[in-house]
Amino acid sequence: TPELFDKIVNLCKRRGFVFPSAEIYGGFRSTYDYGPVGVLMLRNVKNAWWRSMVQMRTDVVGLDAAILSPPAVWEASGHLSSFTDPLVDCRNCGNRFRQDKLDDPDVCPSCGATGQFTEPRQFNLMFKTHAGPVADEGAVAYLRPETAQGMFTQFANVLNTSRKKPPFGIAQVGKSFRNEITPQNFVFRTREFEQMEMEYFVPPDEAEKWYRYWCDERFQWYVDHGIPAEKLRLRAHDADELSHYSSGTSDVEFLFPWGWDELEGIANRGDYDLSAHATHSGEKLDYFDQATGERYTPHVVEPAAGATRTMMAFLMAAYDEEEVRGETRTVLRLHHRIAPFQIAVLPLSKKDTLVPPAQDVLARLQPHFMCDYDETQAIGRRYRRQDELGTPYCVTIDFESLEDGAVTVRERDTMEQDRIAIPDLLAYFRERLV
Ligand code: ATP
Repeated sequence: TPELFDKIVNLCKRRGFVFPSAEIYGGFRSTYDYGPVGVLMLRNVKNAWWRSMVQMRTDVVGLDAAILSPPAVWEASGHLSSFTDPLVDCRNCGNRFRQDKLDDPDVCPSCGATGQFTEPRQFNLMFKTHAGPVADEGAVAYLRPETAQGMFTQFANVLNTSRKKPPFGIAQVGKSFRNEITPQNFVFRTREFEQMEMEYFVPPDEAEKWYRYWCDERFQWYVDHGIPAEKLRLRAHDADELSHYSSGTSDVEFLFPWGWDELEGIANRGDYDLSAHATHSGEKLDYFDQATGERYTPHVVEPAAGATRTMMAFLMAAYDEEEVRGETRTVLRLHHRIAPFQIAVLPLSKKDTLVPPAQDVLARLQPHFMCDYDETQAIGRRYRRQDELGTPYCVTIDFESLEDGAVTVRERDTMEQDRIAIPDLLAYFRERLV
């Protein structure tokens, strides 16, 4: 429902997930800042991706490449000539649209005029700037519109230093910039966003196998992190959607309030990227297999996801309202690895006697988990707040704690409460918050 969209935007502002950028100056279209809670969640999304893609594997290594890059990179990758979207203007109302995203190619979504669009013009999405004090052609630089090219241009360095051989991958998380014609839907499509991409280099005859492998693996990642499978689908591109070098692309799509839309694309890119950079740079970007005595250019399978967009999908999938004792409880049923805080430590009252043991509990848990600490307001309201932040566990220190050295642990989804001895808390959470 479109209602859900407004609720999420509202919750994001009210609780400190996402604020419009430069809001005190009226905002700056399509840019957003991640607030105290949002920065935690976004970081968790990226860490969860990194954990599955790098930490839990031996065949993928990481990279953090520069955002600014010279035209030669984008010349070779084809972005300078063809990273464009078709732009049309409505002659009636003057608004601009991306032609390929129009519901009806003849009808203006703003004013409803029919047949008033100009011929499409190809608009390059890259942000161009100048490096150094002289703004001449020799100083042109581009903000990367994807992180992928860093993995291709550093292929040889990574190969020579990492002791990996195909099949192996290079993963990167970071900002990308696209001068989108129509940024929209909150953080779904913005001009500045974060990507999580991995280039997986394989022997050519294994490309199809690995493409299927990564489609399954990436779909499952969203399910494992709490998005119900029925809100996800894997959609294979039709032949006319495929880029000319791709022999297969599938999108992981999420059922957003406005319909199915892309979270991630998995593409079987052949040897297009490494060959293009080898030709343009004059450097060898291939692999010599000592076992077979063969030299070949690896093929690439690329799962490319958006971190900011994925965070929005996690919020939408997790949002729930339920009746509890005649009141509506809003709760984000986020996976514990994605939730901003894993634990909230709450002394029942801020009376002097309860603060020291609460601080003691906090000191035990803080080195291991991201904890919130909150000692003001009635405990019921503090629970509601943590529910809205998606915090899986609240630990309450009450007057009985002073007698029995134990605390109440409240679980977010069931609201069930456990009494746990303070020395056992760490083990208790270690088991539940892996
Ligand atoms: P579209 O056709 O919707 O413009 P795309 O297919 O060009 O997107 P990719 O180049 O495949 O997108 O980028 C990989 C991922 O990066 C996307 O699945 C998405 O999650 C994220 N992404 C791309 N553009 C944006 C954007 N403008 N804002 C937020 N995330 C984005």
